[in-house]
Amino acid sequence: MDPRLAVIDRRLEDIARIIAVSGGKGGVGKSVTASVMALLLSKLGYRTGLLDLDFCGPSVHTILGAKPTLPEEDRGVVPPEVHGIRFMSIVHYAGENPSPIRGVDISNATIELLAITRWGSLDFLVVDMPPGIGDATLDAVRLMKKAEFLLVTTGSKVSLAVVRRLLSMLVELKVRIIGTLENMRTKDLPSAREEMEALGVPFLGEIEFDRGLEGSIGDVEKLLRTRFAEGLEKVLGKVLSSA
Ligand code: ADP
Ligand code: MG
Repeated sequence: MDPRLAVIDRRLEDIARIIAVSGGKGGVGKSVTASVMALLLSKLGYRTGLLDLDFCGPSVHTILGAKPTLPEEDRGVVPPEVHGIRFMSIVHYAGENPSPIRGVDISNATIELLAITRWGSLDFLVVDMPPGIGDATLDAVRLMKKAEFLLVTTGSKVSLAVVRRLLSMLVELKVRIIGTLENMRTKDLPSAREEMEALGVPFLGEIEFDRGLEGSIGDVEKLLRTRFAEGLEKVLGKVLSSA
């Protein structure tokens, strides 16, 4: 048995809720959702952590405008605080260098990061998940037993098809699913609501395509003033009442 697995349970024991922002497809808005959700939670006074598990395409630091800083060590690794959020990412170690890892190494890096990070006591840990429904998702389910999934999709048939697969996998694994969120809503596509509700999971709402979002990337104050953040705040209300 890998001794790190027992350590992980202890590292996560003082976290009330772990929210994994997933969705299967890349580019649907998982990272902005996870980042802005953590900012909103922190603004509401919740003790919040944010973990970027997308080792191949870490984005949270870019969205938050956070410089990678080598974390302090004190009976584990203490996540650097960024805008009031305890933030852990592979970029603290790899910087902007690519970290081309695959398969079992990704799994190992995930285990290692979860085993060393001393989150302390948190109300929420938001996890930015990588795309895909493979190893990383299975690892998240296996290693973070408390994790509840929030699935992000767009209204595109392509994204919906992937999120449907992810959903049935999570249901099979008996993972708690908070619900789905339709991002980048445009009038050109039918709403994803009906289709998502037909799958038996709560539909948490829609966030419109926001032309102002790109100009706010890297600037937290601006990010919090976007229509995206306004839309996500409504979704967050449902997440908070889903406890
Ligand atoms: P993922 O993590 O799912 O790959 P990201 O969060 O990195 O997706 O988002 C992909 C791109 O889409 C980013 O450039 C982001 O700023 C943009 N984006 C996400 N949601 C919206 C939205 N509602 N309106 C406009 N642009 C968005
Ligand atoms: Mg991402």
